[in-house]
Order: sequence, then C-alpha cells, then structure tokens
Amino acid sequence: MALVLVVEDDVAIRTALVRGLTERGHATCSSGSGMGALSTVLTERPDLVVLDLGLPDVDGQEVLRMIRAVSAVPVVVATARDDDRAVVAALDAGADDYLVKPFKLEQLEARIRAVLRRTRVGEAPVSVVVGDLVVDPGAREVFLDGHRLALSAKEFDLLLYLAVRAGQVVSKQELLVEVWRRPYGGADKTVDVHLSWLRRKLGEPATAPRYLHTVRGVGVKLTAAT
Ligand code: CA
Repeated sequence: MALVLVVEDDVAIRTALVRGLTERGHATCSSGSGMGALSTVLTERPDLVVLDLGLPDVDGQEVLRMIRAVSAVPVVVATARDDDRAVVAALDAGADDYLVKPFKLEQLEARIRAVLRRTRVGEAPVSVVVGDLVVDPGAREVFLDGHRLALSAKEFDLLLYLAVRAGQVVSKQELLVEVWRRPYGGADKTVDVHLSWLRRKLGEPATAPRYLHTVRGVGVKLTAAT
C-alpha cells in the first residue's frame, strides 16, 4: 500500500482528497503548508506527494525544489493556474505529473497509479553497468571508475535513460519527451545543456568522448567502447 502525502491549504479540498484516497485503499498523510510538507516528507517518507502549487507560506514551486533537494519521492503537482509556464516550470523542477484544478478524484488516482507504476520500476532495481560506469536506479547513484559522481536529479534521469539503452542512438526529441515529459520545440536547448553538464561530470571532452557520443543530426548514445 502506498503512503500518499496530500499538500493542500484549502481544508475542504484537503479533507475530501484524504477521505477519497483513503476510501480507495491508500494510506494518507496531509499538510496545509509548504514547510509542513517538507518536514512530513522527511519524517513520514511517503511513496508519493500530491502538491498544491498555491500555498500560503512558500510557493509550491519552491516547495518542490526543496523536496527534490532531499528526496526522490514522486510528486504530482495540482495547480489552479491553467498556465503552461507554471506546469513546465514544475515539471522542470522535478514534478512527475500534474493536474489542473478542479479535477476529479478518479483523475488524481489514475495519475497516482501511473506515476507509482513508472517509478516502481526502480523498486527492485538492478544497477546498469556500461564499461566502468555503474548507474544504480535504487540509490540514484552513479559511479565512474569506482568514484561516486554528484549528479543533479535530471542529469541522473538522463544518464539512466541512456544507460539502459547503451549502444543505441537516442534522439534529443525522445529525451525531451521521455526524461523531461515535454513536447519537443526545435529551438529547445534543454537537452544539449544537460548533456554538456553530464559530459563535464563524466570528465570527458566533447571532442574525445569515452561514453557520451554525439551522433550529429541524429542524437546521442552512451557506449563504453570508442
Ligand atoms: Ca491552494
């Protein structure tokens, strides 16, 4: 059974969500504030967080960033702002999915199920080994030549996505859609920027890559053999 943390400052909505999720067999805990949510993430270690973006004490986007700094718990953002930018910013800050208010409990539950299904791929995780690179999806840790690399959440997701497809060319469009869950815009440099950060952390120049190989005009592939 999954423990779901409901973060919502509107008492009526919060009560309804907690009751509805409990009736559907989820364990729940709840918080009416951003700072309360952060401490509950640390103390209760929920399996998933439903996060309202409009909170009285700290903006939800900021709460999301703080949660991400301490935990990889999946987060479904609930926003009243029917605003693409808020949604994109939330997904960028590490949200796993989002709902625009008002939503039906069934919709929320479907998102929760989908996110848990997706993230529980890592429940009995097997490390992915590519040459001297080891990517551990359970601990979300990466080792290169036995040394742990300090990667951001997105850098890790990107590397893991490429590592499980080692040897295959993956397009930047696919990365943007699958890793960032964002539609592809031709001028979008998100993937390029993260690839160059990742390359730097792997300690390899773009001109003589060991693992991260750019296939011009097609995409990128991770491979141990050069
Ligand atoms: Ca609110």
